[in-house]
Amino acid sequence: MIRETRLVENFLDMVKISSPSKDERAMGDYLIKVLEEIGLEVKEDNAGELNGGNCGNIIGILKAPGKKRLLFSAHMDTVVPCEKVIPVVENGIVKSDGTSILGGDDKGGIASIIEMLRVIKENNLEHPEIVVVFSIAEEVGLLGSKSFDIDSYKVDFGFILDSSGKPGKIVTKAPSAARGTIKIIGKPAHAGISPESGINALTVAAHAITKIKLGRIDLETTSNIGLVSGGQATNIVMPSVVLDYEARSLSNEKLNYLLEETFETFKVVCKEFGAKIEWNIKVEYPGFALEDNEEVIEIVKIACKKLGIASETVSSGGGSDTNIYNSKGIPCVNLAVGMSKVHTLEEYIEIKDLVDLSKILIEIIKG
Ligand SMILES: [Zn+2]
Repeated sequence: MIRETRLVENFLDMVKISSPSKDERAMGDYLIKVLEEIGLEVKEDNAGELNGGNCGNIIGILKAPGKKRLLFSAHMDTVVPCEKVIPVVENGIVKSDGTSILGGDDKGGIASIIEMLRVIKENNLEHPEIVVVFSIAEEVGLLGSKSFDIDSYKVDFGFILDSSGKPGKIVTKAPSAARGTIKIIGKPAHAGISPESGINALTVAAHAITKIKLGRIDLETTSNIGLVSGGQATNIVMPSVVLDYEARSLSNEKLNYLLEETFETFKVVCKEFGAKIEWNIKVEYPGFALEDNEEVIEIVKIACKKLGIASETVSSGGGSDTNIYNSKGIPCVNLAVGMSKVHTLEEYIEIKDLVDLSKILIEIIKG
């Protein structure tokens, strides 16, 4: 039923369309046309306006009154460099020419959804009600899914296609993450004439850093300071320093506890030195952890079994639109697309994986 040539051609067409975050217009227009041609009712929401982009989330609906409603979603935006992607097909693998990313993240997911829809129509397959969402600005903070009014579509559960790894891998847990800056404000002074009248912000930060938890904290929790910036010259006691900090945990409670503990430590150390602190850390997205017996997981496992594809449930270390939809009360899993080395110039995807994922989707809708 799957037409591999059509699937690959569609994928190649899409990776050639430049679609950095908040600049998905060309991609959105392409998808509106494709979905309308297949016969879906197509809408675009106002997520673009809300987030300073030029395109909203593209939504396609394939009606089946009275049946279950399933969400299938993948994101339209890609990381840079994604201008003028030249895909190269070699030995069953699609990669870029080495000067850009490929964009299999997440156009591999989109291609599989489109192939699923075409197969349904072409073969007159019985299907549940299908809501397709191609989201914007996933790579810059899950902005499209955050703005998407999923409640009004009343979906029962969803399948997000946005994980690396072989099709059959089902992400059922992902962390919540907090991110932002910690600014330590000391006091400038001439480093040679009157260093004792200054407060070196870096010294304060260093003391605090030796007392907080960083790196892998437990199996579910990590934290990191990834960037440090401050200072003016060697002869000035450093007046302020900014630490870019993030923390993640599969447990929302553990994350909140870690953030409180870290903030408290910084406050105490700042007080000791007479420095001030500006704490600007926010929870960027909530985590999710589905129970193993959730229907949405069972459906994927059964689909894989019918196809002889091995399935496994895993927890992820990163966030995706899946986090947002789960937090809005829709049980959703994130399925592996086959994309590899994403966010690098070496990104590639195996054609067999695109085909396998499309087959899994078709089995899912057959139920
Ligand atoms: Zn992605």
